[in-house]
Amino acid sequence: NVKELVREVKLIVEHKMKKKDLSFSVDVEEGLELTADMEKIKQIMINLLDNAINYTPEKGRVNLEVKRSDDTVSIQVKDSGIGIEKDALPRIFERFYRVDKARSRNTGGTGLGLAIVKHIVEVHDGDIQIESEPGQGTAVTVYLPKVRIDD
Ligand code: ATP
Ligand code: MG
Repeated sequence: NVKELVREVKLIVEHKMKKKDLSFSVDVEEGLELTADMEKIKQIMINLLDNAINYTPEKGRVNLEVKRSDDTVSIQVKDSGIGIEKDALPRIFERFYRVDKARSRNTGGTGLGLAIVKHIVEVHDGDIQIESEPGQGTAVTVYLPKVRIDD
């Protein structure tokens, strides 16, 4: 149940959102079904939201949207944060890669979040896309097949 999952995720990130005075909105399509490892899907959402929080200045906006298109379910996390330079975009899924080492040291991550997300997406035969504009914000979208065909 995707709605229930999103409710749990919301509870986990809400505190950090409030601390940075971010406006957090959630849009989940009704009646969504997804055959997947729900703990893993939760981890995708939490990792993406964690980035949105860390790389968005105070009073910014973060949106989580989950919807269906044809045979896939898309999970999109969009923020109004610092964005990512074009040169860095191809590397952000690498393990331990962080865009601005000096700056990101303050946020105390390890550079594993997106590598984990990418791995989970691949295991589910999904796809991941990222759009970003420095100084404007970032949108990361994960596409998962609604029905997972196990071999
Ligand atoms: P960890 O997730 O392990 O705590 P991290 O957030 O640095 O550490 P990733 O989640 O893999 O690692 O992200 C890699 C890098 O991509 C980040 O260090 C940051 O520079 C950049 N990045 C990721 N998401 C965003 C975002 N929403 N806005 C701006 N930059 C981002
Ligand atoms: Mg991260």
